Amino acid sequence: MEEKMTDKMCPNCNDHLFYIEYYTEIPYEGKITIMTYLCKSCHYRDVSIKRHDIGKPKILKLKIKNKNDLKTIVYRSPDASIKIPEIEAEISPGVASRGYITTVEGLITSIKEKLSLMDSHDAIFIEERINNILKNNSEEITLIIDDNSGKSKINSGRVEIIEK
Ligand SMILES: [Zn+2]
Repeated sequence: MEEKMTDKMCPNCNDHLFYIEYYTEIPYEGKITIMTYLCKSCHYRDVSIKRHDIGKPKILKLKIKNKNDLKTIVYRSPDASIKIPEIEAEISPGVASRGYITTVEGLITSIKEKLSLMDSHDAIFIEERINNILKNNSEEITLIIDDNSGKSKINSGRVEIIEK
């Protein structure tokens, strides 16, 4: 890894930033370049990732019918938005969003955690429905992953894949 001193200045201490570029391959995403600006005085770091293997835009759909479906492994790429229409839930890709591996249960739980920050009557009602889905499979829901990079995966034989 080669370090280059740049003309960019550290936003914390105004010293010169160093630039480091690192090329690698990771599961699901393929080839990536990790670009880091680093300040050697105060250890400020600004990391960004460039992906080289962008796939075709896809929509993935899976009906969540039972406890086993909740354990399904999901890879959500940084571009993917996630929707569960039955509970009006949506997770949009953020500005500095990163890909991550989780389970259907993990996704639903993170939706629930976001809801608990909202202080509305609807949020409490939906939170209760989510608790029931997680505990008792009280209703069937549909997980929809809309991904322009096509890199997201739902690890189930029943997943429906729609090319956009
Ligand atoms: Zn600094």
